[in-house]
Amino acid sequence: MQKFSYHTHTNSFGIFDGHNSAAEMIKRAEELGFEELGISNHLIYHAGADVSFSPMFCNDYQKAEDLYKKTCEEIRAAAAGSRLKVRIGFEVDFFSSPAWRRDFEKLMSRLDADYYIGASHALINHDESRYINIYQRSAAESLDQEALEEFLRCHWLNLIEAVNSGYFAFIAHPDVVKVFGYCLEPRWDEYKMKLVEVLAARKQPFELNTSGWNKCGEQHPHEWMLNELQKRNIPIVISDDAHKVEALGQHFERAENLLRQLNYTNRWKLSA
Ligand SMILES: [Zn+2]
Ligand SMILES: [Zn+2]
Repeated sequence: MQKFSYHTHTNSFGIFDGHNSAAEMIKRAEELGFEELGISNHLIYHAGADVSFSPMFCNDYQKAEDLYKKTCEEIRAAAAGSRLKVRIGFEVDFFSSPAWRRDFEKLMSRLDADYYIGASHALINHDESRYINIYQRSAAESLDQEALEEFLRCHWLNLIEAVNSGYFAFIAHPDVVKVFGYCLEPRWDEYKMKLVEVLAARKQPFELNTSGWNKCGEQHPHEWMLNELQKRNIPIVISDDAHKVEALGQHFERAENLLRQLNYTNRWKLSA
């Protein structure tokens, strides 16, 4: 059974959306007999971010850099003296515009992080002039059907560009939008398949995210996508996406069973 998770969250500074401190997460991982723990708070920075929604959202570069630096320092301090190998990651909301990439590259050059997870929790339009965080239900619901469809198409294309960017160690919950009831119709399979093909072309590792079993009764990604990715021999890692100590290692046995059933043997981990 996999004895690590690289996708976990803390409540650092009362800003991030976890429920426990880095020290508490590390202690629990030790109790579980984990070999490693990666802490990957959200890095959600975009000039168009609605910062009133949550302090976790940044639209100011310097504030973002200061916050993420402080986060790295806090985790390093919490890890000192632990027998665990503690890694510092960020779960990054990717955007494809040149302005965002420039700022993100600057951030990466200044942060003492070990890895970045590519994700999108964003509904955006094609030029990123409108950006709705997926958790902002009222904003998403205010879109008419046509606009919503465009935002969802852009969501998938954005994920595809995240893979193409080469920035990320692995890609998080590729079909996270299903938690909100989006893109369940077969016509969206075309976009999901495009994502599968680009993951394959780039040999980009991705995660089997077990938190989906709590949120929508199904892991991320769909089993048929896992099947397609297995056929293409793309490395996979199991993530609990733990936002609290109790969720560390959640459903790992179930995930291992699923991978066994699918004969999915190409497992990914960070190098020592
Ligand atoms: Zn996420
Ligand atoms: Zn997460």
